[in-house]
Amino acid sequence: MYDFIVAGAGFFGAIFAYEMKKAGKKVLVIEKRDHIGGNCYSYDCPKTNINIHKYGPHIFHTSSENVWKYINSFADFNNYRHRVLTTAGGKVYSLPVNLATINKFYNLSLTPDEAGEFLKSKIPAISSPQNLEEKAISLIGRELYETFIKGYTIKQWDCDPKDLPAEVITRLPVRTTYNDIYYDDDYQGMPSGGYTPIFEKLLKDIPVELKTDFLEKRDCWRSVARTLVYTDRNLCFDILRQLRPDID
Ligand SMILES: Cc1cc2nc3c(=O)[nH]c(=O)nc-3n(C[C@H](O)[C@H](O)[C@H](O)COP(=O)(O)OP(=O)(O)OC[C@H]3O[C@@H](n4cnc5c(N)ncnc54)[C@H](O)[C@@H]3O)c2cc1C
Repeated sequence: MYDFIVAGAGFFGAIFAYEMKKAGKKVLVIEKRDHIGGNCYSYDCPKTNINIHKYGPHIFHTSSENVWKYINSFADFNNYRHRVLTTAGGKVYSLPVNLATINKFYNLSLTPDEAGEFLKSKIPAISSPQNLEEKAISLIGRELYETFIKGYTIKQWDCDPKDLPAEVITRLPVRTTYNDIYYDDDYQGMPSGGYTPIFEKLLKDIPVELKTDFLEKRDCWRSVARTLVYTDRNLCFDILRQLRPDID
């Protein structure tokens, strides 16, 4: 009998399993993909030896010193800082919107203080933004919104920003300085050897069943575990739907 069966070998599942094992519990991890690491899985390209993040680049960022110390006990992290460039109207801009973006877009040479005042002059009076579009316009004005936020939001969410809740963009970073680092967190970086070695260490002494869909043998897993832990968001929704088909 297992104390825990954990469905999903991503960061949540692997760290949970590691900590429970350390606490003396019997743990099994079930993973439907053919590898551990979840969305953070990385591998070395055999031709170039470049470390590839299979599901998209992942930058570790946190403002918690405890979290940073914890993750650094499993890997050495480099000093990578994420900086993003985008094109609009045939020009290259820095994102998220910062003083360089504002000055280039409006062809100005504003100081930080002036940029704050300038942005205010661009923002129409919207007392209580009702959706993402209104919220974004209330933060950066219509021109910057339409150039840098609208199309990207439609692409990412596949719907009209007017149909998305205002909260989605509450944390839209807008800087009136030249700071162009994407994340604000105190600690940032990428593990020098990629993410997968972290997962190998976390799961070293824990049995992992790869290529195994938890849902296909759910009753079986339930009969051999005191507690089941679902880590994947979609898996949680699937299980909720199974348990409560009346809930959409
Ligand atoms: C393109 C992209 C870029 C990102 N960039 C960043 C970033 O730069 N920084 C950052 O902090 N976060 C980033 N994220 C978010 C980050 O990937 C997640 O926060 C993190 O991976 C979540 O870990 P997790 O363990 O909760 O889930 P996951 O990593 O998704 O792991 C869940 C695991 O459960 C498995 N699973 C699902 N269903 C089943 C089933 N039925 N049976 C068995 N196993 C199952 C999945 O295969 C998966 O391996 C990014 C995400 C994406 C997609």
